[in-house]
Amino acid sequence: MQHTYESLPVVASGEVVVVGAGPAGLCAAVAAAEEGAETLLVERYGFMGGMATSALVNPFMRYMSGDEVVNAGVFARILEKLEQRGARGGTDAEQRAFDPQVLKLVCDELVAEAGVRLLLHTFLVDAVASHGRVQRGIVSSKSGLQAIAGEVFVDASGDADLAARAGAEFEMGRPEDGLCQPMTLYFRMAGVDEARLPSYEEIAEMYLEEKAAGRIENPRDDVHRIIHTTHPGEVTFNTTRVLGHDATNAASMTEVEIIARRQVEQLVRFLKERVAGFEQAYLCSIAPQTGVRESRRVLGDYVLSGDDVTEARKFADGVARGCFSIDIHNPTGHGIYAKRVPAGDAYDIPYRCLTPRGFENLLVAGRPISADHYAHGSLRVMPIAASTGEAAGVAAAMCVRQGKTTREIDVSRLRERLKQRGASIYEAADVSE
Ligand SMILES: Cc1cc2nc3c(=O)[nH]c(=O)nc-3n(C[C@H](O)[C@H](O)[C@H](O)COP(=O)(O)OP(=O)(O)OC[C@H]3O[C@@H](n4cnc5c(N)ncnc54)[C@H](O)[C@@H]3O)c2cc1C
Repeated sequence: MQHTYESLPVVASGEVVVVGAGPAGLCAAVAAAEEGAETLLVERYGFMGGMATSALVNPFMRYMSGDEVVNAGVFARILEKLEQRGARGGTDAEQRAFDPQVLKLVCDELVAEAGVRLLLHTFLVDAVASHGRVQRGIVSSKSGLQAIAGEVFVDASGDADLAARAGAEFEMGRPEDGLCQPMTLYFRMAGVDEARLPSYEEIAEMYLEEKAAGRIENPRDDVHRIIHTTHPGEVTFNTTRVLGHDATNAASMTEVEIIARRQVEQLVRFLKERVAGFEQAYLCSIAPQTGVRESRRVLGDYVLSGDDVTEARKFADGVARGCFSIDIHNPTGHGIYAKRVPAGDAYDIPYRCLTPRGFENLLVAGRPISADHYAHGSLRVMPIAASTGEAAGVAAAMCVRQGKTTREIDVSRLRERLKQRGASIYEAADVSE
């Protein structure tokens, strides 16, 4: 059937519409609804959690700087709910393993408690925008092509699908050649005798021998590390690496999945044949999709830089914070570029990183916020994505309640409200700018 976008039925609407239910979108939708906005959350898969559930990314990276919790708010409630279900591992304050299957249940509970209207199995494929306003999102599902409508939109799709389709400016990859960080397909093995595992160095040596013999085709020169999960005998790997592909292109992503699964098969064979403790182990899951570290970064009113991150800069309009290092996996081969945030400190993420240039009812949250390739290498992790999501959700609800555009709201009141909600916000008294 032929349609013009104008003739498409509006399948759902909300005062605030959030696209994507990863850590950023989940926290944005929960916060917007709790702040009194009718909120619609649209997600392409049949479950929420984003990379944590769809790509099996684990653990939650560093969200504490010394004793200070830098990513709190709704994210802290996610941790609590996981804990209540015995689905959160370790005592390491820097990183938290969690059970991704239980996280799906936690997400369901959070959106139900907040009164978010949820639409799963719904893929945003286009947008109608004019005069700096997003009018409608165009979605595709088993119900066909339909529209979603709202007053304020939050793009939390990880790849800035909504912002890009609406015509927002964006960048991709590193400045010199536009190459993005490599992608990685997580897999898990169960039945591992963890007590018998050799040292990391021994495993790495055997891995290099396999690579030299052509039995493992992976640009990494190491196995990364064996990541322990919340289940005894079950471990997960952040080891596969696929270079030079584009996460916003389905044909490219098809190649990625096939290449990455071939690496999984080679790695499983290697582990079972050569590494003590893996003799009886088996491949218990391959993530539903290969994990995407980097794609579009929307250009906002401020572009956070790598220096802002490594100098732990503070901003008068800081609405979220981060303390995780810059962590950039080499887009062309082996290795990682890493640079730390000063110990015991954290950087601010200004509200202006969430406001795409030229738009007045669109906010962006999570991985694709306005930042350079280096700052993105830090703020991309899940706890920080959750914090920028919560900030976007509260801001969107303020816009709706006050009948204002995203640039007209009072950011000091936004900061105040975030603090009242339990988010970690730096005091404005000694900001860098
Ligand atoms: C290999 C790898 C390892 C990583 N390791 C860690 C780690 O150890 N710890 C850590 O904290 N972080 C880690 N990260 C980073 C982290 O997982 C992501 O950057 C983070 O999940 C970003 O959150 P987000 O909500 O912005 O996006 P995502 O988690 O990507 O969520 C986006 C959501 O939007 C949905 N969506 C996308 N497009 C559409 C659309 N068009 N319509 C509707 N829905 C859509 C997706 O299905 C998804 O649910 C890693 C990432 C990768 C890829």
